[in-house]
Formats: sequence, structure tokens, C-alpha cells
Amino acid sequence: MSHSLVITDWTLIKKSCRFSKLIYIDAMTQETHYDTIIIGSGPAGYTAAIYAGRANLKTLLLEGVPQGGQLMITNEVENYPGFPEGVLGPELMAKFKAQAERFGAKLLPQMAEEAVLNQGKPFKILSEGTWYTADSVIIATGASARFLGIPSEEKFKGKGVSACATCDGFFFKDKHVIVVGGGDSAMEEATFLTKFASKVTIVHRRDVFRASKIMLERAKNNPKIEILTFKVIDEIYGDEETGVVKGVKLKDTRTGEITDFPVEGIFIAIGHDPNTKLFEGQLDLNEKKYIVTKPDKTATSIEGVFAAGDVQDSYYRQAITAAGSGCMAAIEAERYLESIRG
Ligand code: NAP
Repeated sequence: MSHSLVITDWTLIKKSCRFSKLIYIDAMTQETHYDTIIIGSGPAGYTAAIYAGRANLKTLLLEGVPQGGQLMITNEVENYPGFPEGVLGPELMAKFKAQAERFGAKLLPQMAEEAVLNQGKPFKILSEGTWYTADSVIIATGASARFLGIPSEEKFKGKGVSACATCDGFFFKDKHVIVVGGGDSAMEEATFLTKFASKVTIVHRRDVFRASKIMLERAKNNPKIEILTFKVIDEIYGDEETGVVKGVKLKDTRTGEITDFPVEGIFIAIGHDPNTKLFEGQLDLNEKKYIVTKPDKTATSIEGVFAAGDVQDSYYRQAITAAGSGCMAAIEAERYLESIRG
């Protein structure tokens, strides 16, 4: 027995040689053992908790920090069915959470820091010093905003450079800002920013937009918004000590020509990367690091582990599809548990 050894009712797990230390896990105490552990609290995680709770599964939802996922930094959600007048993202997520709590899931507002999924059952998740165990796991860790990755961006991140207009737009009252991107996020952020900014310039690297027609038209028709195509940000400059941005060097993607463009704030809206670091080397991930699920299912490469929402979906990426796959994951987990328990 190289990796596990039973001492009375304790399981001894030899951790990876990276840390080369031994961790004792009380694998089966009532307090820390669950039928299913859900990781992540966006529409997928909360919906999985609603369904798992209603199926009478003993359910732990590790919500992460902050809770609620990407809708918490979204302004108005206009396309979630059941809200004909639209609904604010945080208000929608508060409703998801209340519904998950109503059906008995235990919600903890903390991060999953480590996951042991490939050493047999029970699956083990470390959070704030406690190893929680479960017979099934639903991963709903979502995706995080992508940044440009240019060196000068780092110097102004969180000050003159942001990936969240809802969070930081207010700081750019009467200022000229850039929004980078050509998708729905860029159109939404740009339109939202016109509430504060004196002018918003959308900078897109080509002249074809991924944004839906309605959101693109809304941005185009807004007198405060201008759109520059075939441009990328080559460099950001300003006062590095205060983080105040003074301008950017724009590069033409066809000619390579660099032009100076004075501006006071930069909002990056170029998509997201899945939050799968915790599962690398354990679960099958695709080339973009999204979790691979079985066709038309949420089952992953490890039996008993399911994935729902943006962490496994680079195509639809909608709140409604995330919620739908959270429901699927809970139903699959329930049937899986039935199948192993007889
Ligand atoms: P997206 O649709 O993937 O668009 C990303 C945009 O950023 C693309 O225009 C892309 O350019 C550009 N981009 C990517 N990397 C870049 C880089 N390094 N430098 C410059 N530009 C770069 O992502 P999204 O806008 O975040 O939308 C994601 C999903 O959420 C979509 O399904 C969208 O419909 C949905 N969404 C919906 C709403 C809503 O309905 N209220 C709001 C926001 C988002 P290329 O086109 O050249 O690749």
C-alpha cells in the first residue's frame, strides 16, 4: 500500500512529493463527509446544490471567494428567462443562493485549495485547513477574466487597468476610457461605462465582431462610443507610482503602424480562462484547459466527478446554460451514487 494506509478509522494520505509531508484525514466523520461536494457558486454551482438538496443528498457547496461568480460583476441581465424586465446580476445570484439554502445544502463561503480526485474514493477537498470528503464531486469553478498579458499592463492593473466596468467604472467619471474586445462583454462594458465616462473607445483587433447584433448596434448607436478596428494595445503608459494611466500605444494589426492614443482608463473585455488549476494532472482537460466531459453529459474522466458551467463550456457560456448543466450534474451525481450503493 504505497499511497494509503488505514489506521483505526483514519486514512493516511501521502501527499505529493512537492510538499513531501503526511496529512491525516478523518475520512468518514459525519461532519466532514458528504454525498456530494460542489465547488463554485455561479449559476452552475447553486443550481447543482438546489437539485442535490432536493434529491436528499448530503451536500456541501464550497462557494469560493468572492461568491456568486461572474454575474456578480455584471450589471443588468436581460436574457435570463423569467425576468421580462431584466434583473441585476447580484440580485439574480442572491435568489440562486437562497434557493440552494432552502433545500438543505451546506454553504461555506471559502475556497477549495486542494483536490485529491485520482486516488480513489472518498474524494478529498481541502478548504481552510479541513479535508472534506465525498462520494461524488461537482466542479463548477467557472472562468476568470483574461488580460492582455503585456508587461506594462501589470503596472496599472487594479488602478488604471480593469476587467470589470461594474466594479471600477465609477472611478472614471468624465474621463476618456478604452474598452478592448469585440464580443458581448466589450459591448456591454462600453455601454455601461458611458454612464460615467465622457467618451468610450472600443478597440478591436479585426473588423468582424463576435458580439450579438443587438449589443453591437446598441454600442454603435451610443453617441459617447467610438469603435476603432484593426487595433491592439501595444503598450500602456502613465504614472506607475499612482497607477494613473495617461495613454496607450495602439498598433495597427494590418500594417504594424504604432500610434499614440491619450486615454485615462482601460477596460479589458477579451474573454475568460477556465478555473481548472486545481484539477490539472488529474482530470482530462482540453487544449484550452477546459474540463472535458462525456458527450451530452457532465461526467468527467474520473467516475463520480462531474463538471458544470463555464469550467467545461467554452462555447455557450451563458448563465442559463451553466444553470442547466448544474442541474444535469446533480442528476448524474444522484444516479451515480444510486448505482454504487445499490
Ligand atoms: P468572446 O465572445 O470570446 O469575445 C472576446 C473578444 O476579445 C473577441 O472579440 C476577441 O477577438 C477579443 N480578444 C481575445 N483575445 C484578445 C487579445 N489578446 N487581444 C485583443 N483582443 C482579444 O468573450 P466575451 O465577450 O467575454 O463573451 C463570452 C460569452 O459571454 C459569449 O457567449 C457572450 O455572448 C456572453 N456574454 C453575454 C452577455 C449578455 O448577453 N448580456 C454579456 C457578456 C457576455 P476575436 O474576435 O478576434 O477573437
